[in-house]
Amino acid sequence: MRALFLLLLILSLAAAAPAQTRKTLDIYVVDVEGGNATLFVTPSGESLLIDTGNLGPVAAPRDAGRIMAAMKDAGLQQIDHLIITHWHGDHFGGLAELASHVTIKEFIDHGPNVQPAEAPDNFLKDVYPKLYSKAKHTVAKPGDKIAIAGLNATVVASAGNIIANPLPGSGKPNPECATFKGGDNNAEDPQSVGTFFTFGKFRTVHLGDLTRNMEFKLMCPVNRLGTVDVLLGLHHGQASSNSEVMVHALHPRVAIMNDGTRKGGEPDTMKSVFSSPGMEDLWQIHFSQLSGQEYTVPGMFIANTLDEPLNAMPVNPIQAPAPGPNTPPPPVHNGTAYWIKLSAQQDGTYTVTNTRNGFTKTYKPGDSK
Ligand SMILES: [Zn+2]
Ligand SMILES: [Zn+2]
Repeated sequence: MRALFLLLLILSLAAAAPAQTRKTLDIYVVDVEGGNATLFVTPSGESLLIDTGNLGPVAAPRDAGRIMAAMKDAGLQQIDHLIITHWHGDHFGGLAELASHVTIKEFIDHGPNVQPAEAPDNFLKDVYPKLYSKAKHTVAKPGDKIAIAGLNATVVASAGNIIANPLPGSGKPNPECATFKGGDNNAEDPQSVGTFFTFGKFRTVHLGDLTRNMEFKLMCPVNRLGTVDVLLGLHHGQASSNSEVMVHALHPRVAIMNDGTRKGGEPDTMKSVFSSPGMEDLWQIHFSQLSGQEYTVPGMFIANTLDEPLNAMPVNPIQAPAPGPNTPPPPVHNGTAYWIKLSAQQDGTYTVTNTRNGFTKTYKPGDSK
């Protein structure tokens, strides 16, 4: 009888214990076709989503669905913190759709749109205030901490401003500044919310779509960020970002690029990444025609193919066609999509997995170059 009582007690305790047994920080880089959606999940199950994929009648439900698939994989019931880095359709586009299915507790952004356009202006006037009316709304300022348990998340850039002081342990002169080639491409990209993360000894950064001129502000004459293990996003791999002053000075061992089939991965970006000291592997969400085989990584590092796979990928990179009514559409990928998953441990060890082919690689701190 006593044994039965003990057994029942143990069973009831087991049922009451949280199902959460995660010890790692998990990061899902979701395929949103050259947009951004990057999901952080802490060991306690608290979540931070950076961006929500693309706008449009096909794209928004597709991308929101892909984010929800990653949430399901992580065992999430809600999004605790959401950062919309800036008001471009490839970043806020899936938000209304996502919010119609999922509770979002905090909305973080850089403030008003500074690049007038119908879609974001209507969204900000008619839709967004309704979404955050029952939640928390935060306008991020450089130096802010995002209140997520178990993860140190510091805003380093927002609304064109940067942190006043270098992050702890950084602030050395950056030799790359001498050869900097600048550039901006539009008004909203430089406004992006950029966030630096530490989890134990593991360090990573997501800079939204910050452009070269903002990279210079952050990294010259001194490096205000220090180094990272993993560089996330890379502005889809676009050459308007990813200057050596940023990529080389961050000294990442791994980069994970949220590019599209014809967005990002231009030769200038690939040269900057591959010539970066200590760089071991670039993982990509897509093969980009702007890379061609000449500049791309082996397929085992590429998470997605196309709805109608090609027999051969072109060797030479192509120039991005000028936008207009006669521009041929990029190769389509609306079918099954795969994320790249990163799991980091407190001691700085991390594992990256391509969920399309199961290829996985573990990076141990002592092995770094
Ligand atoms: Zn895709
Ligand atoms: Zn973008």
